[in-house]
Amino acid sequence: MSDNHTRSPSSKDDSRRSCWVCFATEEDDREASWVRPCRCRGTTKWVHQNCLQRWIDEKQKGNSTAKVACPQCNTEYIIIFPKLSKAVYLMDIADRIIYKTCPFVAGGIFIGSVYWTAVTYGAVTVMQVLGHKEGMNVMEKADPLFLLIGLPTIPVMLILGKMVRWEDYVLRLWRKHSSKLPFLSFFFDEYSRYARIPAETAPLSDPISATRVLCGALILPTIATIVGKLMFGSVHSNFQRTLLGGIAFITIKGVLKIFYKQQQYKRQANRVVNDYPLTQDLLGSAPSPTQ
Ligand SMILES: [Zn+2]
Ligand SMILES: [Zn+2]
Repeated sequence: MSDNHTRSPSSKDDSRRSCWVCFATEEDDREASWVRPCRCRGTTKWVHQNCLQRWIDEKQKGNSTAKVACPQCNTEYIIIFPKLSKAVYLMDIADRIIYKTCPFVAGGIFIGSVYWTAVTYGAVTVMQVLGHKEGMNVMEKADPLFLLIGLPTIPVMLILGKMVRWEDYVLRLWRKHSSKLPFLSFFFDEYSRYARIPAETAPLSDPISATRVLCGALILPTIATIVGKLMFGSVHSNFQRTLLGGIAFITIKGVLKIFYKQQQYKRQANRVVNDYPLTQDLLGSAPSPTQ
């Protein structure tokens, strides 16, 4: 397709055309096709069709639908594509629909897999807690819809339960009231003796502690079963034994955690910064860096 209108210079102004991309003038290349694509005035409004196309390609960086404007006057270029045939037009629409729906489909598949993993985990946990045979019986008798909602709720509730930091709450109460209970402070030292109140470390602030919550929550039924068998072997009901095992495990672990945290708190509270030993050279011995 040739463009006779822009190729032949008609006025005096047009004879001084100069391409703002390659700086060539009308005299340099008589064959090139020209275009004035924007509101710019004077000789700089002209540009070679080919030079401008190359410049637009660079600006679009492979995205052929991106809008491009003149860098001087900010006019958006009017880019016209040749008419599409019907078949190509339909393919173009199909391509766009697929491009837009794929993220949703992938997200749906991901959520679906997480859901089915949760259902499987719930079913395994039911069999673990109730015993294989009884668990199977209960699930076979239950309403399928109830199972589809109830089973994935099991891991969710375990994780939510694990996120309740009841040990921290007990510890805070303890620190508040330990001065009123002298015989208890025998274990945990006197609160009033602390040189300072250390800065609290924020729980759940990093992704590693999130994975810890996840692992701790999901492994709890297994641990509860084991502890139940070890400590409450005489209880005949599987469910009661596992429940007792779980409660015992959580209580023991909580007490140990409270003790450990309180010890760390005390260490932080009673830390001291030492003087730098000025007489180090005279004495001829290195100071101990600890304490
Ligand atoms: Zn040019
Ligand atoms: Zn312009």
